[in-house]
Amino acid sequence: MSKKRVYEIARELGVPSKELIQALAEMGMPGLKAVNTVDEEEAEVIRELFLEHKQAPAVEESEAQAQKLAPPKEKVEPEKPKTGAPRPPVVAVLGHIDHGKTTLLDTIRKTHVTQEEAGGITQSIGAYQAKVDGRLITFIDTPGHKAFTAMRARGAQVTDIAVLVVAADDGVMAQTLEAIDHIKAAGVPMIVAINKIDKPEANPDRVRQELAQLGYTPEDWGGDTIMVPVSALTGEGVQDLLEMILLVADMEDIRGDPKGELDAIVIESHMDTARGPVATVIVKNGTLRERDIIVVGTTWGRIRALVDYQGKRIKEAGPGTPVQILGLEDVPPAGERVELVKKPNQAKALVEERRRKALDARRVARPLMTFEDLLEAAEKKRLAVVLKAESMGALDAARLELGTIETEGVELDVLHAGVGPINESDVLLVASVEDAQPLVVGFGVKVDPKARRAADERGIPVRTYDIIYDLTQDIERAMRRLLGPEFVEVKVGEAEVLKTFDIDGVGRVAGCVVRSGRVVRGARVKVLRLGEEVFAGEIGSLKRFAQDVREVQAGRECGIRIRDYDQVQGGDILEIYTLEEVPA
Ligand code: GDP
Repeated sequence: MSKKRVYEIARELGVPSKELIQALAEMGMPGLKAVNTVDEEEAEVIRELFLEHKQAPAVEESEAQAQKLAPPKEKVEPEKPKTGAPRPPVVAVLGHIDHGKTTLLDTIRKTHVTQEEAGGITQSIGAYQAKVDGRLITFIDTPGHKAFTAMRARGAQVTDIAVLVVAADDGVMAQTLEAIDHIKAAGVPMIVAINKIDKPEANPDRVRQELAQLGYTPEDWGGDTIMVPVSALTGEGVQDLLEMILLVADMEDIRGDPKGELDAIVIESHMDTARGPVATVIVKNGTLRERDIIVVGTTWGRIRALVDYQGKRIKEAGPGTPVQILGLEDVPPAGERVELVKKPNQAKALVEERRRKALDARRVARPLMTFEDLLEAAEKKRLAVVLKAESMGALDAARLELGTIETEGVELDVLHAGVGPINESDVLLVASVEDAQPLVVGFGVKVDPKARRAADERGIPVRTYDIIYDLTQDIERAMRRLLGPEFVEVKVGEAEVLKTFDIDGVGRVAGCVVRSGRVVRGARVKVLRLGEEVFAGEIGSLKRFAQDVREVQAGRECGIRIRDYDQVQGGDILEIYTLEEVPA
């Protein structure tokens, strides 16, 4: 297929490159550079868009209008589709280093990926599809739990089934345990591939035993963990493993609807000097098409080309398909979700809003807390911790100590405890947990610079300790802080209701005189009638001479509207309280 530079297309069209690039950006294909190369089909898309742009130059205004009427939706988690047809399951391979993850993926690729006609450039896009008994399985090509958890770090779940590789000559090792914790946190079904059974010293039963001790009892021993002995090297058992994956996929009832709402997640991305930003996504539901306008986190673009795992251009990608996307303005991170929008302006507005929000979030260190926030915060009382220590002995000691911490109302969830320095995947693991305060702690270990960077980017606290007492004390403090500051009601004033007014569209307003202290808008109020409390609520509005005011002092008159309460009567006494924080 012949390739072209963007400036060559501009020359053919008889316009300066700058003008062509500008026009394409307005048509939803931003980020192109004059030196970028495109293939013939992409060039065709570019030519068409340019001609379209020339014919309809004044779309800006009406688009802005349309956008106002229909603001783009914020991210919503698409429901797991119950409709549609069974789609290829998405599988990730995890396990200890050197236990054979890469070899297994390579062998499956060699034996189960139908080679297209010779001459096609096979390139790795980060995922491929294997064909087993006429059905497809989508494999994520980057093994290991770091990649696995990075894909989940933004809350999206791309993997349907995890394959844990354990070498039969080595057994369960540190990263096996890590991988298990990551799979558990993701909540996806796990299949164990007991690998290297061709080796004379292989002892598959030892692996079964070690896993059983961890609570994963093999099926043939009466448990419910599927374990398949394989040799990634010779290919023995690999067909069985693949069939098991399909079986689990059937049990999980994994479906996708090509006509349904788009659910597509980035698994890998990079900047290609010739092609610009490139992202591989896996479509889980719905369909992605060439020329679709998409928003991916804080970047966007019009799809210039879709490339499949065999390097072929495709027009559309349906459920279960891994596909490379060309045409984004910027490189999105793994784990980001792809959203479809109708117009370039909608995409731009959404991206701009997100960038602004991200900036604001960094600027506003501590937002003002409303009472509702307080109640909400009270529901998230979980501290999600990854604990690392220098040795097994130190780890056991630290775990024992942590076990003794008890703070009523707060849960301590140790997602993973392991030996070795704090690494990036530790950070990603805690980052992937929702509804919990994340924390990574180390006992006598160092923090890998990449882990430090990942933590800084995500605002995740990472602390290391040399003294176990300091560690437990900090965890205890963090848990207590999660309970939120303690608040007490402090009485600040009292008012007497002189008469009441019923106002259309507002409700009952009490005309009062402040007898003592002060009345504060938004404060808590108790209504006393003949000395009995008849209602407790909040002051909705506070007025003096028809003016909204924040506060009214003793001796003055004012109008008080109590939120959601219209039964206030003349003669009632209103006690005013504010919530004040009790210093820890
Ligand atoms: P990874 O770190 O888990 O990706 O492991 P690799 O796939 O790179 O494999 C590590 C080493 O184990 C390599 O030298 C492989 O050739 C070897 N290996 C992998 N699978 C098998 C197997 O089934 N049998 C034997 N004998 N060697 C294997």
